[in-house]
Amino acid sequence: GDVDQLFSIDESLKELAQLADTAGLKVVGSTYQKLASPNPRTYIGSGKVAEIKSAIHALGIETVIFDDELSAGQLRNLEKSFGGDVRVCDRTALILDIFNQRAATHEASLQVALAQMEYQLPRLTKMWTHLERQAGGQVKGMGEKQIEVDKRILRTQIGVLRKELESVRVHRKQYRSRRFSVPVPVVSLVGYTNAGKSTLLNQLTGAEVLAEDRLFATLDPTTRRVQMKNGNEFLLTDTVGFIQKLPTMLVAAFRATLEEISESSLLVHVVDISHPLAEQQIEAVDKVLSELDVSSIPKLMVWNKVDKVSDPQHIRLEADKRGDVVCVSALSGDGLDEFCDAVQGKLKDSMVWVEALIP
Ligand code: GDP
Repeated sequence: GDVDQLFSIDESLKELAQLADTAGLKVVGSTYQKLASPNPRTYIGSGKVAEIKSAIHALGIETVIFDDELSAGQLRNLEKSFGGDVRVCDRTALILDIFNQRAATHEASLQVALAQMEYQLPRLTKMWTHLERQAGGQVKGMGEKQIEVDKRILRTQIGVLRKELESVRVHRKQYRSRRFSVPVPVVSLVGYTNAGKSTLLNQLTGAEVLAEDRLFATLDPTTRRVQMKNGNEFLLTDTVGFIQKLPTMLVAAFRATLEEISESSLLVHVVDISHPLAEQQIEAVDKVLSELDVSSIPKLMVWNKVDKVSDPQHIRLEADKRGDVVCVSALSGDGLDEFCDAVQGKLKDSMVWVEALIP
């Protein structure tokens, strides 16, 4: 289907499998099909439907996840074709599930609830038409009316949530401005999910932030105080990780999380340099950053997981060539002193710059 050009089908499916794992599902296999255009009824062709159906029976599969967004009709038709209690969902619904599981703060919960309702809204229509058909046409027009009622209820709820979210954001802004009255620089960790951001945060602070080999281990911005050997301090903030194909709808829902980084003194872009698509991931993160209002904030890149690469010497040379890159292993602690020095240097540069502006 409509796979982001930057990433191969295999990579996209691999990430989908990681997402499913994060959601607590056990992945038994994956498959794909190349079609000139998706089948309007079932997204995939009838042969593929039959192939998956036999796999469902052979392996006792409970859930089938599609990498692209499906319409309500496609979801329903696929569920009917696969039969039984098989649950069919798409990437967006899976990510929403994970967000829902991981939402730790009030704000995150509101954001997830909002995104879930916005996801449901266009999917209501066909669900009711379906029920109407099931009732044998006896209640003709009933479904139609019910759709309108449900849509109105949902829209009202969405409005209420938006307002509540707005007020939560205002409160967070107040908290932030209080924090800024203390002259401690804020350093934000950004980067791909699974790059090792929470591992780095833990290594530097001993904070108990969930670190595991799962996507979205860090849904909510988490801030910790880091004290360096020379006594200087900075606040280190972990942000939600980027993913390859984050649905636009979810980007909007998590804007508050991303907004936080526009107020930091330094952005630390953490990269899993052992990842085969590290270069593409760097580009993708840079692209998102360029869309946010952060161009004036100094940046430092961290190439993490150097313990995992086959030729660390080569990686270090590449890092030197590129400049503004520190190689570390957040897991072993290797390079963390250099990292702190680099942060210190960057912060000093930006302080000088700020001082120059103040007469
Ligand atoms: P986050 O999603 O960016 O916060 O990533 P995590 O900190 O949760 O790390 C994702 C996975 O990568 C975990 O299994 C970590 O143990 C692993 N990891 C993190 N840093 C390193 C590293 O320097 N070397 C190796 N080999 N694994 C790492």
